[in-house]
Amino acid sequence: MLRSELVEYLADFLAIEQYKDYAPNGLQVEGKAEIKHIVTGVTACQALLDKAVELQADAILVHHGYFWKSESPEITGFKQKRIKTLLVNDMNLLAYHLPLDGHFELGNNAMLGKLWALEDITPIPGLVRLGRLAKAVPIKNFVEQVSNSLNRQVLHLPGGPDVVQTIAWCSGGAQNYINQAIDWRADVYISGEVSEQTTHIAREAGIHYLAAGHHATERLGIKMLGEHLAEKFNIECHFVDVKNPV
Ligand SMILES: [Zn+2]
Repeated sequence: MLRSELVEYLADFLAIEQYKDYAPNGLQVEGKAEIKHIVTGVTACQALLDKAVELQADAILVHHGYFWKSESPEITGFKQKRIKTLLVNDMNLLAYHLPLDGHFELGNNAMLGKLWALEDITPIPGLVRLGRLAKAVPIKNFVEQVSNSLNRQVLHLPGGPDVVQTIAWCSGGAQNYINQAIDWRADVYISGEVSEQTTHIAREAGIHYLAAGHHATERLGIKMLGEHLAEKFNIECHFVDVKNPV
């Protein structure tokens, strides 16, 4: 397919116009015009780029791309090396941040809801979701369920009831949205990362907090997006998981 078709399709499919984001959503670095093979991954780090070169991909599709609002605009050091890798290999870089967290069918938050078999899912204004377990379970069992589902031991900061049913969650570095989860009376709030203050907020507001990993909670959306594109446009797509303990 043509790069232009892919960019146009994803802009529409992920409704990028609806999000105010910290980085550009869409084509970030332009490469060849024809795309037959895409590599997907969470972050456009050097290891992902090198693997994409090895696999002779025409495009890389990620959740965390480049050109964040907070970063300096100079293209030097590791950033120069990354961009050079793309340009020398005529490889496109496409990145979708918040639109991929929020997509109702295959976004990170939608996929986590499915992974934990949550029901009656309601979007809380913003990106946080609220759902319910089919039946209430001891918090210990739920922590184990989340750990097993993501293949890593999650960090549990206790504060809520012994038995839980109402779960709020938001992928990535969304620990500060714990306040929304409290307002919506969730028993548990799950995000990727954690701050020092999260411990105290959980204890004092009567909610459990689970730090389940930024990378771990954001693998599913980009992987599903690649599978969706492969099926819809009959192109080759490989998900490459560059391990990250955070
Ligand atoms: Zn993220």
